[in-house]
Order: sequence, then C-alpha cells, then structure tokens
Amino acid sequence: MIRDILNAIVAGATIFMLGLALEIPNPYRALAPGLFGLTEVAPRIYTDAPARTAELTRMVVKAEENSRRFFGKTPAQPTYIICTEPKCEQIFGALPNGLTMGFHRVILSPAGVNQLVLNHERIHVDLHALMGLNGLRLQRYPAWFDEGLSEYLAGPPRPGYRPTVADKRAVLRAGGFAQWNSLVQDGQYNRHYGAARALVADIAKKIGRAQLREIVLESKTRAEFMSRLPQSVLNP
Ligand SMILES: [Zn+2]
Repeated sequence: MIRDILNAIVAGATIFMLGLALEIPNPYRALAPGLFGLTEVAPRIYTDAPARTAELTRMVVKAEENSRRFFGKTPAQPTYIICTEPKCEQIFGALPNGLTMGFHRVILSPAGVNQLVLNHERIHVDLHALMGLNGLRLQRYPAWFDEGLSEYLAGPPRPGYRPTVADKRAVLRAGGFAQWNSLVQDGQYNRHYGAARALVADIAKKIGRAQLREIVLESKTRAEFMSRLPQSVLNP
C-alpha cells in the first residue's frame, strides 16, 4: 500500500516535471526536439535550418573525428540540436554557445554554430560517456579539467588571452560544476576557459598526450585521477 502511494507520488512528480519541461522554455526540451518544430535532417541531428544539412552534418563528422583522435572509439551517440536562429534558441531558454547534457544531447545556440564550439562539446560528450552516469554524479574529473580538456582538444587557444598563475589558481579551485558555474558567472569566458585550457596544455607538455589519455581512460576515482597528474602543474 505504502509502496503504491510512493509509486503514485513518484509517477505524479515525473509527469509534473515532464509537463514543466514541455511548458517552459528549458534545455530538457532537448529530450524531444521533434516536438518543438525542429527537423531531424540526418540521424541524431536536429536543426531549424534544413537547408544547411550538408554543412552541419560535415561539422558533426569533423567534431567526432577530432574527439576520436584522443579518446579512440567511445560508446557515445549523442543527439545534436543545432539552432541557427534566435527563435529556435528560445525554445530551450537562455543557452550558452554550446551545452552538453550528460553524454546524450549537444545543443548549439546561433552564436555557437561553429567547428570550435562543436568540437568542444563533443569532447565533453566522450569524457562524460567514459565516466558514465555514476562517474558524472561523483564528478570523477574536476570541472576545470572537463572544460580545459574540451578547450585544449577542440583547437588553438582563444586569441587575446595570456594565462596567468592567479587565473590558473582560481580555476583549480573550481572542482565541482557548481563552482565552475559560479566562477564563469562574471562573463570572463576567455579568461577562465583559457586558464583551464592552459592547465591541461601544461599537463600534456609535461607527460605527453599519450600518458594523459592513459590517465583519463584508466582512473577510476577523482582521487586516483588527481594523484596521477603532475603535481607541479596542480600547484602553480
Ligand atoms: Zn564546456
């Protein structure tokens, strides 16, 4: 009986949340992009610009190849939602240039429809797939590494920013996603993402990409991961 009541409450709450997801603009709508007028122009690629199918498909293929060069083959098969117009972005609420949800959805806003942003998000996808839902919940890799690796593997550094020790130290304190979000709330994206990228570049320079890859693939816990990174980079 109690279990029935609990089940009913859980079911009710789920339906309520689903209702909210459909009613109010928010990223969870990405779970059902077809409901909001986006077209699936290729397998797992939704967009408001079917005329740009060839270009967008090419970008996705390139981003997947770029990520595979580091990770090798990964199990991730995300759905891409590419908004080229503000009207499409508004469906999902206020979006950053790119957003990765778990390892299941990548959403690009009009400002983020470019190869670098797509590369960045795809790296997130593969890193997240590697840790799985439980690893994500426990945040096996610190947020600064998640962002720094995505920046580092996506392409060249952002122009006009020179990493400083103070910036690196600030970024190193952002181990959790909530801490990262509050760090970047000042809107100084080039600075924070640039410093996170610089830390990962420092690590790669010190131990090489192959060993970095090995540590990423093999570490089972955050503590193990952190202990295998060069300590001099972690204490700038
Ligand atoms: Zn990111």
